[in-house]
Amino acid sequence: MENKLLRSLPSVDELMRSEQFATLAEQYGRELVTRAARNAIAQARESIRATGAEPGDLGHLAAAEVERLVRPRLGRVLNATGIVVHTNLGRAPLADEAIERVVEVGGAYSNLEYDLTAGARGSRQDHVAEALRQLTGAEAALVVNNNAAVTMLVLAALAEEREVLVSRGELIEIGDGFRIPDVLAQSGARLVEVGTTNRTRIADYENAITENSALLLRVHQSNFRILGFAEQPTTQDLVRLAERSGLVFVDDLGSGALIDLLDEPSVSERLKAGAHLVTFSGDKLLGGPQAGIAVGRADLIEQTRRAPLQRALRADKLTLAALEGTLALYQRDASTVPVLRMINEPGDQVKERAERLAAIVGGTVETSVARVGGGALPLAELESYACSVEAELAAPLRAAHPPIVGIIREGSLLLDCRTLTPDEVELAGETVLACRSQ
Ligand SMILES: *Cc1c(COP(=O)(O)O)cnc(C)c1O
Repeated sequence: MENKLLRSLPSVDELMRSEQFATLAEQYGRELVTRAARNAIAQARESIRATGAEPGDLGHLAAAEVERLVRPRLGRVLNATGIVVHTNLGRAPLADEAIERVVEVGGAYSNLEYDLTAGARGSRQDHVAEALRQLTGAEAALVVNNNAAVTMLVLAALAEEREVLVSRGELIEIGDGFRIPDVLAQSGARLVEVGTTNRTRIADYENAITENSALLLRVHQSNFRILGFAEQPTTQDLVRLAERSGLVFVDDLGSGALIDLLDEPSVSERLKAGAHLVTFSGDKLLGGPQAGIAVGRADLIEQTRRAPLQRALRADKLTLAALEGTLALYQRDASTVPVLRMINEPGDQVKERAERLAAIVGGTVETSVARVGGGALPLAELESYACSVEAELAAPLRAAHPPIVGIIREGSLLLDCRTLTPDEVELAGETVLACRSQ
């Protein structure tokens, strides 16, 4: 029986000659449809071997395969985890104003590196520098691909083959096995660890300074906290020591809040306290595109800009366009930045969305705890509400269009509504209903 079924499978050529496949080939191109036909036959063969039964209609299998092959792999996801800056889900969703800038700049030629007044070569750094200076109070700014890159670049430019002092309490892993010390070692600077995991005093830095020291680096304890018997020097202490010893003090802030947000240190507050350079991400609390930003003393920024590595790490025009669009929101009304809106939204509005979703899908509303994420404010718990549905829906919802990612708690799937926009509630509801009826 099994052999007979296997022998009855058509060849790729035979399939391609059928009317259905000729139509598909016209629509999607011969190459892609041939690939789909081959995959469909392979699937049918596997299914016969596994079950010994009829594999089902090859035309259907192939059409589903065509759809899978043409669908983009990178796509929109509904974030129902309640984690606002979710690194695996693309961190910050961009504001409409930022997207508009991307569409305009990406769809045409632009003045990316052209000075329209002089009619000559310009710098891609000029477009956002002024807004960054104005919003942070810095003398100068530089934007590259991401924060790990900008921090490494700063060390390469200011401390190559020299010593960089960093506290053992700040040697963090940022995710997926990537550790800040390993990334920074790529700069060519030599990391010198000072203090202990829980306590580092200013004297520890002072005692470690040699004539080969170039820089004091503080790495924000972004995604963890050491509680209890713990001590780290203040910004003022580090600034004073750096200035007394002729060293540069760099503050890697990571999340980089441009405005006051709960307990998160802001970029301008650290600059005002005397940090020579502050580095931070564009797509964490700032709420913009992936980018690494350094702000601070003009001579140090210029030295960093001139480092050869800068050319390898530079930000592209789409990033700069999205960043400019996001910074423009800060200049008008920061509360409209999506990430900040989600973090600051009052609980009753989140609850209203959870009730709306529960009404559509027949689920129940449960209280939950949302998080800032992105290595910021790890202890902050944001009041939140979720629609609870059956846990069996978790996998089908991840495979849906659009996929929905929630969290499993005590045998239920919670769809946290802090990270769903008002517009996404209906869509999420319809998707749940469609998954149930499959
Ligand atoms: C997130 C983070 C980084 C890495 O930033 P990316 O933009 O992801 O490269 C580096 N340092 C700190 C302190 C961070 O929080």
